[in-house]
Amino acid sequence: MNTRLMKDLKVPLVVFCFAFAMLLAGVLLDPTSRGQSKSVKPQAGVKRVLKSSSGSASPAARNAQLSNDLNWTFGGKPQRGWYLYKPLISRLLNTKNEAASDGFASALARWQKKSGLMPSGVLDDQTLYAMIAAWQSARLKDRSTARPDQLLTAPISDFYDPTRDEELRKVERETYAAYKRMVSAAIANKSLGLAHGAKGQLAPGEKYLKIVSAFRSPEYQEKLRRESPNSGSSGLAVNSPHFTGRALDLYVGGEPVDTRDSNRAVQVETRIYQWLVLNADRFGFRPYCYEPWHWEYVGRKQ
Ligand SMILES: [Zn+2]
Repeated sequence: MNTRLMKDLKVPLVVFCFAFAMLLAGVLLDPTSRGQSKSVKPQAGVKRVLKSSSGSASPAARNAQLSNDLNWTFGGKPQRGWYLYKPLISRLLNTKNEAASDGFASALARWQKKSGLMPSGVLDDQTLYAMIAAWQSARLKDRSTARPDQLLTAPISDFYDPTRDEELRKVERETYAAYKRMVSAAIANKSLGLAHGAKGQLAPGEKYLKIVSAFRSPEYQEKLRRESPNSGSSGLAVNSPHFTGRALDLYVGGEPVDTRDSNRAVQVETRIYQWLVLNADRFGFRPYCYEPWHWEYVGRKQ
């Protein structure tokens, strides 16, 4: 145990000493500290020192850094940081603490332990992939295309686009009923400030929680794919949950269905999105972590 600890400490210490020595050498052996190359070298040295000593930084400090800097991939696409997933992560860890706090690190360590990971309290790539696996496994499993008798045509007043074609307003029946229950609950929550009519429906001018997209037939999805060939696997899936009529894209802010980080950063900060993260499960809806607008009805007991 002790020797292993010594070994672990030895590497950063050696790197630190070496970097420090290089830094000193750079300062001492360079009497003319002018010119770009000369001022850059010591700075690079300092950076290396900071990096190599980060292993001993507190979990809270590491999380503050990793929430913006962690390099990882999703569906083959490089990603940076996990700040976009903070609401989902907080829900999973059952914590309200900031990412850079000791409380968050403790809650994370408990979750890591429960999940069979090393309880470091640091949200590294391994931990993030385990969280994504947990979210993904809670999604719809049966993706068979809905039969016509399983679908209803929802009224235009439920849709984000007030001109949306009738053919594109189909929703699986149980999903629609659950959606309406969820909308009523959101309207009843005054802190969300949703504009609504007398019968507890969303007002025509209200955009939040309106349906952007529901049932999509395989033929229609194929047409979308042809029109947008670069959308990648995470965007317009070949085997889309929208075929079931149980996946709803809901308006949660920003550009309705734009996966750019800058857009998702706006969406995950809205009160509506954060309310969905905490409450949608009560109505049988589960999130797709990568798309804040995409919710799947899995029923209340799965
Ligand atoms: Zn969707």
